[in-house]
Amino acid sequence: MKVLVTGGTGFIGTALCRYLHDRGDRVVVLSRDEKAARRHLGNDLEVLSWDPAAGSMPAGALDGVEVVINLAGESIGEGRWTEVRKQRILNSRIRTTRVLVEAMGKVQERPRVLVSASAVGYYGPRGDEVLTEADPPGSDFLAKVCRAWEEEALKAEDLGLRVVLLRLGIVFGPGGGALARMVLPFHFFAGGPIGSGQQWVSWVHRDDVIEIIRLASADSSVSGPVNATAPQPVRMEELAKVIGKVLKRPSWLRVPGFALRLAFGEMADMLLTGQRVLPVKLQEKGYRFKYLVVEEALKASLFG
Ligand code: NDP
Repeated sequence: MKVLVTGGTGFIGTALCRYLHDRGDRVVVLSRDEKAARRHLGNDLEVLSWDPAAGSMPAGALDGVEVVINLAGESIGEGRWTEVRKQRILNSRIRTTRVLVEAMGKVQERPRVLVSASAVGYYGPRGDEVLTEADPPGSDFLAKVCRAWEEEALKAEDLGLRVVLLRLGIVFGPGGGALARMVLPFHFFAGGPIGSGQQWVSWVHRDDVIEIIRLASADSSVSGPVNATAPQPVRMEELAKVIGKVLKRPSWLRVPGFALRLAFGEMADMLLTGQRVLPVKLQEKGYRFKYLVVEEALKASLFG
């Protein structure tokens, strides 16, 4: 099967492309930097250059493609959210998805499914509320980004594609991602919960994300939003405790919310608030998570 992947050089994409390739799929990655992508991914994966900001898609990129997996987007976890950065975070997702969907509209033989990333940030800060795919979106910046991103992807339905919107929780896995940034202070004996510690963290291991993408690609009964989160979200306080336990480091040095806001501005709210999300659709489909317990997911991510 031929699979086209955007964001294939990223934290999720790299592991996903390797998995698909090893399984025997033909993987084509669209990257803004073809050379760097080849170096990163190795020569056995095909890489095509694209410039989504300029609206350009390489000719023939969709030839014979059955599944499109859309993961591209400017990182949200680095640096302060200035107005310019916020615009880049939004545009990088809207434009890439738009270019992709418009290109699909121009070909005769279309892929059958678009699996497009989104995030649990869709729901906005929601305290202790238990959230499923049926819940309405929030109204903060990230919720607006996710909503606009999903709306763009859903336009592929008008072209006859099945569209799956993966509302990803924080993805844990070896070699980077948000966890690498979270554990850094623990290594220096300065780890602990962020803010009140009461906020919920909906997490998922990358191995499960890959299996969920495989399921979403293959099962024609899956469509629309799918919460890609483990069934047992944890409070930030609990997460800090478990990170400390796994790393054998103290975990009591709380990072006060005001300090975080001072350092990171609006971006701090993403860490100080959270969502308690359940993967109801996946559970209805009988998906069996490889990682159900956060401690196991952390051990596999930090020592895997
Ligand atoms: P990464 O940041 O690791 O990778 C994203 C990829 O997108 C990059 O490799 C890059 O590919 C491409 N990209 C980066 N900036 C831009 C830009 N300005 N315009 C177009 N493309 C760009 O992301 P992850 O693998 O961690 O996540 C994949 C998607 O899932 C992201 O969109 C992310 O927002 C979402 N998500 C991830 C979560 C996580 O915990 N990891 C949680 C929730 C959502 P290249 O340079 O080759 O073009």
